[in-house]
Amino acid sequence: MSDCVFCKIINREIPSQIVYEDEKVIAFKDINPVAPVHVLLVPKNHITSVKEVNTDNVSIIGDIHLAANEVAKKMGIYDRGFRLINNCGADAGQTVQHLHYHLIGGVNLGTKIV
Ligand code: 5GP
Ligand code: ZN
Repeated sequence: MSDCVFCKIINREIPSQIVYEDEKVIAFKDINPVAPVHVLLVPKNHITSVKEVNTDNVSIIGDIHLAANEVAKKMGIYDRGFRLINNCGADAGQTVQHLHYHLIGGVNLGTKIV
């Protein structure tokens, strides 16, 4: 049993609104959305953050990007565009210590990153 909330979602120990899943990646709606579409893309293997990405596991980043395209299509925002965001560490405001990317869209997000 893991204490990690995203591992619990992956293992169906807590509920979530899953919008996409494959062998390596799961995507579910953020519980506190900041835009009309706000989905979290999460590797099924527990990787703490970008800082834990290495030559052995880096292929998961490609898998997440491929999944992001599929989710964007499924959510109807592929053509208009979207933002894919990762928060890494304390100064970035990472609150869940399991690597994840925010897929955000469905509205014009403007040009500022922060
Ligand atoms: P971070 O700040 O670490 O980049 O983002 C963590 C995100 O996970 C936040 O946007 C937060 O709303 C979301 N989150 C935290 N706990 C849960 C949960 O139990 N279920 C879902 N669906 N999202 C969660
Ligand atoms: Zn985890």
